[in-house]
Amino acid sequence: MTKKQYKIVIIGGGPTGIGAAYHLNKLGHTNWVLYEKHDYVGGHSSSHLDDKGFLWDEGGHVLFSHFKYYDQFVKESLGKNFYTHQRECWIKLTNGWVPYPFQNNIQRLPAPEQLQCLLDLMDAQQTHKPSKNFKEWILNTFGKGIADTFLIPYNFSVWATPATKMAYHWIGERVSVVDINRILKNIIKKEDDISWGPNNTFIFPKFGGTRGIYEPLAKKLKNHIKLNKEITNINFKKKIITFKDGSSDTYDHLISAVPIDVLIKNSDAPEVIKKNAAGLVFNSIIIIGIGIEKKIETPKCWVYFPDPEVPFYRLTYFHNYSPYLVPDGDTNKYSSLMCEVSYSKFKKINKDTILEQTIAALIKNGIINEADRGKVVSKKLFDIKYGYPIPTLDRDAKLNKIQAYLLGNKVYSRGRYGAWKYEISNMDHCFMQGVEAVDKIIKNKKETVWS
Ligand SMILES: Cc1cc2nc3c(=O)[nH]c(=O)nc-3n(C[C@H](O)[C@H](O)[C@H](O)COP(=O)(O)OP(=O)(O)OC[C@H]3O[C@@H](n4cnc5c(N)ncnc54)[C@H](O)[C@@H]3O)c2cc1C
Repeated sequence: MTKKQYKIVIIGGGPTGIGAAYHLNKLGHTNWVLYEKHDYVGGHSSSHLDDKGFLWDEGGHVLFSHFKYYDQFVKESLGKNFYTHQRECWIKLTNGWVPYPFQNNIQRLPAPEQLQCLLDLMDAQQTHKPSKNFKEWILNTFGKGIADTFLIPYNFSVWATPATKMAYHWIGERVSVVDINRILKNIIKKEDDISWGPNNTFIFPKFGGTRGIYEPLAKKLKNHIKLNKEITNINFKKKIITFKDGSSDTYDHLISAVPIDVLIKNSDAPEVIKKNAAGLVFNSIIIIGIGIEKKIETPKCWVYFPDPEVPFYRLTYFHNYSPYLVPDGDTNKYSSLMCEVSYSKFKKINKDTILEQTIAALIKNGIINEADRGKVVSKKLFDIKYGYPIPTLDRDAKLNKIQAYLLGNKVYSRGRYGAWKYEISNMDHCFMQGVEAVDKIIKNKKETVWS
């Protein structure tokens, strides 16, 4: 039993909230409760069965952990019920296929483009120009050839935000930067280089999709976890939360995974803090699941599409992750393709036609045939309002003010949308932010992931 039994309230049953819950339970702290607005846990890392028997994630979730403590949790959750996959990831250009990461595999381009990319890259590397934004960083790091062929169009397709409006300090391990020797070796030996990166192998639950990682703990701690409880207002001064159903609760410390702009908007925070929170930028994502009565056999895991004519930025061969994602676990009969489409005020889409546009683009790019239209047995759409928290140029200045105010009120806003830092917004990062918020509250231990 820990010495101080503060009352800790957690908002949100996604990876952040589940991380906090898991750690509180491990520490033997009993005075806590988690409120989740849906009737299931997992947040955006949840999975949903459609009426045709296909199981969909909200986007292609792959698990590549940076933390032993998260690994331990996953092991306790899944036991031996997971698959380990070697990442095989490609980029589809209008005129061909290139393995990911693009910059390590320009040997796949036609000779004139290959030469231009290489000359521009070497020029950029020698010049070392400083960069003011993400677009300049791409050009100054990779040169115009690689930037124009892949990085600039692809990043717009994902972020739905001009790269000139984005910072670049968040990049870290997320973008493979340049190893000229490796690139030259690949060109001369005409070798594909697909092993780069932190996620070159990943695991996926055998049963239940990604939600299968989080549900067992929620079942175990069900006395502490209250579903269907949506918080609509918070009074930070009085430490009172109010729910949609009219009820309320109090806390000593609050851990929240609610999007930080929403948390602040529905509270008694001062106007200046509300103004900063309202200025944070996000994009939205539509996930399109297409279940097909056909065996699609490929070693590929997912494919990136930089072509602005293609509505989606990524396609996942989801049936490759686990056979239990298709009806009866029968991947000889069924396949599931999952496409991710981003949108924002800078990149508008037509939601009425996006499904048909997606199927047409899958056919045009040779993923399925015209004849396969008749074999599509399931179409599932998820419209995710909060997709990617955008690292805009003024993001950190705004966040610093908001988070200082929240911490002064014993509120830990953490996780993908709670912390609003894309660079620490994968499932493992979010889980650990929940864990570390608990350690900060109970042991006054410094947070390492969020800070
Ligand atoms: C398209 C896409 C692809 C992704 N792919 C990957 C991947 O491959 N690998 C990876 O590791 N991560 C991936 N992620 C990130 C992953 O989804 C997040 O890391 C994770 O879900 C964030 O957890 P969270 O708890 O911070 O937030 P969330 O998952 O958003 O959970 C927050 C929870 O709070 C609840 N909530 C919100 N408001 C209230 C309220 N007012 N009252 C009560 N409850 C509330 C929500 O219902 C939700 O359950 C992807 C995300 C997206 C969008």
